[in-house]
This record gives sequence, structure tokens and C-alpha cells, in this order.
Amino acid sequence: MWLNDISDLVERLRTRGAHKLALQFPAGLKRRAAEYATQLMEAGFEVIISGDPCYGACDLALDTLSHADVLVHIGHTPVDVRENVVFEPYPVGFDIAVLANALPLLKEKTVGLVTTVQHIHCIPGMESFLRENGIDVRVADGGVRAPNRGQVLGCSFAAARATHAPEILFVGTGVFHPIGIALSTGARVIALDPLTGIAQDVSGDALLRRRFAVMEKAREAESIGIIVSAKSGQERMALAERLSVLSKKAVIVTMREVSPDELLNLGFACYVNTACPRLAYDDQVRFPAPVLSPQEFEILCGVRTWDEYAIDEIV
Ligand code: SF4
Repeated sequence: MWLNDISDLVERLRTRGAHKLALQFPAGLKRRAAEYATQLMEAGFEVIISGDPCYGACDLALDTLSHADVLVHIGHTPVDVRENVVFEPYPVGFDIAVLANALPLLKEKTVGLVTTVQHIHCIPGMESFLRENGIDVRVADGGVRAPNRGQVLGCSFAAARATHAPEILFVGTGVFHPIGIALSTGARVIALDPLTGIAQDVSGDALLRRRFAVMEKAREAESIGIIVSAKSGQERMALAERLSVLSKKAVIVTMREVSPDELLNLGFACYVNTACPRLAYDDQVRFPAPVLSPQEFEILCGVRTWDEYAIDEIV
């Protein structure tokens, strides 16, 4: 299934005067790379595919683009302004009636609605469904990093916060986004997986308990590496520099891929992650040492209280 008619993409690329294309796919869509490349070559373009891992528009294949006129990035929306990059979302539809599964869990009359990029085209239909069921539904802008109404990312929950609703309905897969929304907004959060139809009440409490344990392990660390990503939309050097002055043991480390092996090789007793926020929250069990978020490091250094704990977002 193509996300769009290929002729639309071809037309846009021709309008830009592109001849040589760099193609980039997230992991789940990479198997379509050859098929996509073939169609674009048949349309008269030269094509190069980026084969590196890619998890978001924060990680553009600028090295591959250096050999092409335009980078076609599939599956995400832009997180910043880039010339010579064409973003192609990959819409995944579902039967809007599945929202009925979430209705029994919603306790408030006013509910904020958010989703991830692949379901963003379903927002109007979901709004209508919820209104028809007596809910005062609110959908807000996601800001620069998440440019669609109602769109959240694992590093940006602005569209949820901006609803100012006491309860948020997240429609999408996995629990990371709804946990992040709960911690970011303080609202009650209901998560609905539109593909399985499973609806659940999600809280950030278990994540907070795990993070507290990680912080305790980091407390006595003799060396601290502050990770700065080399990826286009993850680099937060200014934040890292501000954090590095909080401890004499801290050293800034730039990295492209933050992997367990690389952290083991570097040998720091603790790390502070300013790259993709999900690394610290999702992948801690894989890492050889505690990996703190910037806010957690601030708490350990005494410049933020535990009551001021906040989930890390890239703004
Ligand atoms: S920084 Fe992480 S959460 Fe944000 S867009 Fe990139 S991969 Fe996704």
C-alpha cells in the first residue's frame, strides 16, 4: 500500500527540479525501499537509498543527501526547517468506530485528543465521533516539532498540554506516548490502540518509580558523561553545556548512535542523555550504567526538586 499516489510525489519532485533523489525510510518501512526506488527510477529520477537506521525526522540522512538534489524522508513530519527535504507521511487508517472501546473509560465531559503522525488524518473523524457521543473534544496544535493538529511525538507532548483538558485520549500504539502525556500534563490519560481495539487507563507512576531507582544508582557516580547527539534534530549542545557546569565530574561526549556497547566502551559510571529522550526511559535495562534525563541530573545536583520532576521533551 502506498501512502500517496506516487504521481503526486513525482509531480512535487519535478516542480522542484529534482533529478537525483536520496530516499530514507524508518525501520518499519524499509522493506518497501526497493519498490519505491523502482517506481521513482521508472519516473526518470536517479535514486540512492539511505540504509542506516532511522527512528524519526530528527535523524535526516544528510550524508546521503550530499550525493543528491533532494532527500525524500518517508513516514514522518519535519521537526525543524530543512531545505531540500521532502517529507512523505505514511497514513495508517482504522475504523473510527473502534473509539467506542474507549468511551466507558472516559470520566470527564471535556477530553483532549492526540495521536501519532500515521493516524493524524483520522483526527477529524475521531473528533466527530466523540462529539456525537456527547464529549466536548479538544484538539490543539503540536508546535514546531509536531506540525499537525493533535500530533504528539515521543519527545513532544505540546499538543496534549495545549488542550488544557482534565482527561486526554491518546489513540496509537504502545504505552510510551501516553505515559509521557500523563507526566507532561498531569491529566488522566486513556490510551486506545486503534489496531487491536484495546483501551486502557495509563499512569506515569511505574515509570517514576523506575526512574527514582536509576537516580539512586547514579548518586555516587565518579564520572559522568553528558551525551550530545550528532543527529540533525536531536543535538542539544547548549543544554549539555548548561548541565556540565553543575558537576566537576561531568564531561560532554558527542555521539551519533547511543548504544549499550558504545556506553560500555566509554566507561563512564553514569550518563546524562540530551539525545532522543526515549533512550533514557525506554532503553535503561540495556545500558551498562545509569542514563539520566537532564531533569533527573538537575535533581541529583540539587538545582531542581523531586516535586519539579518533568519528563524530558525537545522544544
Ligand atoms: S528525538 Fe526521539 S522521540 Fe523525538 S522524533 Fe526523534 S526519535 Fe522520535
